[in-house]
Amino acid sequence: MLFKDLGLSEPLLRAVSEKGYETPSPIQEQCIPVVLEGKDILASAQTGTGKTAGFALPMLQLLSQGREKHNRPVRALILTPTRELAAQIGDELKDYSKYLHLRYSVIFGGVNQNPQVRAIKQGVDVLVATPGRLLDLHTQNLLRLDNVEILVLDEADRMLDMGFQRDLNRIIHILPSKRQNLLFSATFNKEIKKLAQTYLHHPVSVSATPENTTVEKIEQRTIRVDKDRKTALTIKLISEGNWQQVLIFTRTKHGANRLGQKLEKAGISAAAIHGNKTQNARTAALAGFKSGKIRVLVATDIAARGLDIPLLPHVINFELPNVPEDYVHRIGRTGRAGATGEAISLVGGDEVDYVAGIEKLLGEKFVRQVIPGFEPQDPETAPEKKQQNQRPPRDKKPHQGPKPQSNSVGGGKPKKKQWYGRR
Ligand code: AMP
Repeated sequence: MLFKDLGLSEPLLRAVSEKGYETPSPIQEQCIPVVLEGKDILASAQTGTGKTAGFALPMLQLLSQGREKHNRPVRALILTPTRELAAQIGDELKDYSKYLHLRYSVIFGGVNQNPQVRAIKQGVDVLVATPGRLLDLHTQNLLRLDNVEILVLDEADRMLDMGFQRDLNRIIHILPSKRQNLLFSATFNKEIKKLAQTYLHHPVSVSATPENTTVEKIEQRTIRVDKDRKTALTIKLISEGNWQQVLIFTRTKHGANRLGQKLEKAGISAAAIHGNKTQNARTAALAGFKSGKIRVLVATDIAARGLDIPLLPHVINFELPNVPEDYVHRIGRTGRAGATGEAISLVGGDEVDYVAGIEKLLGEKFVRQVIPGFEPQDPETAPEKKQQNQRPPRDKKPHQGPKPQSNSVGGGKPKKKQWYGRR
């Protein structure tokens, strides 16, 4: 299947080709024709599947075919849980809309609203927003949403996790009732199903990567080790393996900071990324990591969610999440777009039970290892608070955000990117 077989217009095909995409990903193959038909979508897709282009490309096409309104009211609204994700979607919109006469803008809280308000006043066709700031501007009468034709709820599960349920309901009630709805979620719990039942109209269900297949290209192993030896073992693995780009997940912000500092002390450049860090610190950490200046990024789940870190060879779960689905999100950051990756989970005595839960979800058993010199001494105990289906404490809303963006033409020579995922 090629992009041109999906019914996309020439300006979009040109933009896609300049991005270096050769073939559509499975989620794109499924989403694009359905969105172009004007239907609602309920998509099971996580970051790394190409979902953004899956909704953005056909959305831009529909907007470009629609009748232009002279004052350019918002016609498509994309809601996302975090500022980083909003900014990333903005980056993709910029590339995809390069040859179209459409404008977009990205808004989120934690930064001065004035530049965002100015951008909106100039007229935008597509607005990418986090729910809080959107409502804020709407309440101040600085934003009209009565011309919205397409609503995208991206990472809907994470928006609900972050407590945006009420905001979402309020926003959706402001929108015109006749509209196209596209809901993307990595997991489908009761709340998401309810959201879908309440707001989607006869949605077409699409699912490109059932959760337990994303991990096929990733070698996964667990290493049983005592809690208080995890840092030393992490340092050993990174140094002896000479790993240059490693993403490490910890369960707490504090833990992320602590580990980052210890790695630095051991001569391994590291930065922590979590909700308590300023946006500037997070942006700098991510940029340093992407450019190779920083070898290790230590992150909490929510901070890493939605970040586009391509071709990541190593992920370490310093602590296992107690919700198996979170494991899948975490390691979804490795082995993307055809690259193989490795995911290592360090399992303390009280985390052994979590391994079983994750294996059950994935339907496969991990390779279990013990590293000589790090043989576990701690007894295997049940986790202190074992609460099935309850998420661990998360970072709340992050503080500041990247600078707002507006539409401008981007350059750069693309590399060819083949979609290697499962079909
Ligand atoms: P997403 O799941 O939307 O966050 O996309 C994950 C990554 O895949 C992003 O870096 C995209 O630029 C890239 N991507 C999206 N579609 C394709 C494609 N058809 N071929 C190759 N790479 C793609």
